[in-house]
Amino acid sequence: MEDFKNLTPSDSIRPKGPVCNEPYIGSETVLSSILPNMFEQLSDGIAIARMSAGSGPLIYVNKAFEELTGYGRHEVLGKDCRYLQGSERDQPEVARIREAIKAAEPVAVTLRNYRKDGSVFWNSLSLKPITVAGELLYLGILRDVSAIRKTEIALDRAANIDFATGCLNRQSFIGAVKRLFTKQSGPSLILMIDIIGFNDINIGYDFDVGDALLQEISRRLRGTAASLVARIGADEFGLAFNVPSEAMAQACVTRVSAALAPDYVIPGSKISLRFTIGYALSENGITAISLIRNACAALRTAKSDPLSGPRRFQRADEDEARRRIRMTRELKVALANDEFIYQFQPQIDLSTGEWVGAEALMRRKHPLFGIQPPSRFIDDAERTGLLLALCERGLVAVADFAKRVNRGRERPLRFSVNVSATEFLHRDMPEILCRVALLTNAAPEWLTLEITGSVFLNDPPGVLEAFRRLRDIGVGLSVDDFGAGYSNLRLLEALPVTEIKFDQSFVTELATNPSKIVIVQAIIDLGRALGLTVVAEGVETEDQRALLAEMGCPIGQGFLFGPPIDGESFLANLRQESLAGQANRAIKEGTFRPKTPFGSLGS
Ligand code: C2E
Ligand code: MG
Ligand code: MG
Repeated sequence: MEDFKNLTPSDSIRPKGPVCNEPYIGSETVLSSILPNMFEQLSDGIAIARMSAGSGPLIYVNKAFEELTGYGRHEVLGKDCRYLQGSERDQPEVARIREAIKAAEPVAVTLRNYRKDGSVFWNSLSLKPITVAGELLYLGILRDVSAIRKTEIALDRAANIDFATGCLNRQSFIGAVKRLFTKQSGPSLILMIDIIGFNDINIGYDFDVGDALLQEISRRLRGTAASLVARIGADEFGLAFNVPSEAMAQACVTRVSAALAPDYVIPGSKISLRFTIGYALSENGITAISLIRNACAALRTAKSDPLSGPRRFQRADEDEARRRIRMTRELKVALANDEFIYQFQPQIDLSTGEWVGAEALMRRKHPLFGIQPPSRFIDDAERTGLLLALCERGLVAVADFAKRVNRGRERPLRFSVNVSATEFLHRDMPEILCRVALLTNAAPEWLTLEITGSVFLNDPPGVLEAFRRLRDIGVGLSVDDFGAGYSNLRLLEALPVTEIKFDQSFVTELATNPSKIVIVQAIIDLGRALGLTVVAEGVETEDQRALLAEMGCPIGQGFLFGPPIDGESFLANLRQESLAGQANRAIKEGTFRPKTPFGSLGS
């Protein structure tokens, strides 16, 4: 306090006019006795430092300063203020204070300070230079704004952090990748991860289970030493690694896959989750945003081929992403306009000629080009995710139709629906089939899912389990296009399938290629031995039908029996076929009585 009493006011702080809101410092008396007394009454901390002496020792602090910092004035007078910063001298605000003092300018900052007991408080500090008797002093006003700051931090956190997992959210991930990009030396690796079928988990279990799984996934991802872990969508995570070399990037991708692979424990059981991963590595000149976009494009491509493992970004993914955006828009409109319909192609018992079932085949009723076959849209529908959106809706439509057809029928027809590998892997098919049966009242036994062999490739975890559950429900499982591309005989034994549909090419070449006869016979015998239904596809001629029947193939499908037709025509044809079938049987049994406008003929 002694130092302070000796001060004299300078011109620079003397009020210039009669009315002034500044503290009036009119005489030495004011400065030496009234002013310190006033400072003692304030609730803000006041500290005055003499800048001319060395590092700027304090020459005055008020009572509020003592209360705020926990330091008594006898402990701080004669020392500079830096002890309040603890070991955090590298706060950007400290640098701003240093610059201002060097230029003898005022400065206002909010910085983290430490009390004597080590506890942290947020100090809103305003520093003003004052010249007193030709000597430069700094007047500091300190205010504890910890409560406000805490609220600010909470708000900031809410805006930047994903609530369910505590990871960064999408927006802050982008910002953080940008910052990471400017700092680091080696290349950046961005990974995008999608949880396959997460929506079905949420529906099938509970949102609590879904949240717990998300938390476990984020915990595992944090354990991979990624620089950033973010949840960027409902079922998508983003990771950033700072990798020293390109060679290390691959190791990071493998580490992430391995971390996600083990089973997940949920109340009462364990489940295995599947993921698709797309990733991109920075190259010269690329921006952070482009790098993230590339990883997203790789993920989209990976999603359409979920069995191929993590996909590294390639230029083609970018072109594909643009095309997909266009197609997505077009197909969404088609979906909203109900342009996707089913046609039904009959399946025939080759020995009796009776209709035993039908394959449901998707068509697009294009407003300009008319009925379009799947070859015109199915790949795009799959790549854009539209097929996934259609999946349950389509099954409901077919089940509804099956119910109409089978109403009152002694021997119900079975309806086969094609399910792509993507649909099978991204959707919880057993769950969906249960819902479809409940919703439509159709018997699950009336439905068969046709799956191509690629579903079994790499034996993805969970497929066998899903097959078992589908069989438990009663749904049939058919291996479509058997013999073309990937078909593993061993898997037929291991998987609970009910039907083999051998590929059209076998039927087409039956007459011209004797080796095909041997293979077809082997498939028919194998099917019989395993208790499976065998269906021949693409039967176009009577010769093919006769040969297949002779070889013991039970069921056929093809243009010989009828092309795929709309539901109403199918019903009408079925009625005629049934009448014809009844008539044939009656002729065979000698009980045939043709009907005339006047009633039955004959005795
Ligand atoms: P697929 O499941 O092997 O279907 C058989 C295809 O053979 C159908 O072609 C059918 O119209 C055609 N076909 C039937 N009989 C004959 C015949 O005697 N001769 C010849 N040459 N062809 C015949 P489509 O309708 O163009 O379907 C092609 C493929 O599109 C299907 O092959 C299936 O893989 C896919 N697809 C059809 N509908 C759906 C669907 O709802 N979902 C999914 N994921 N894929 C579908
Ligand atoms: Mg099929
Ligand atoms: Mg087929």
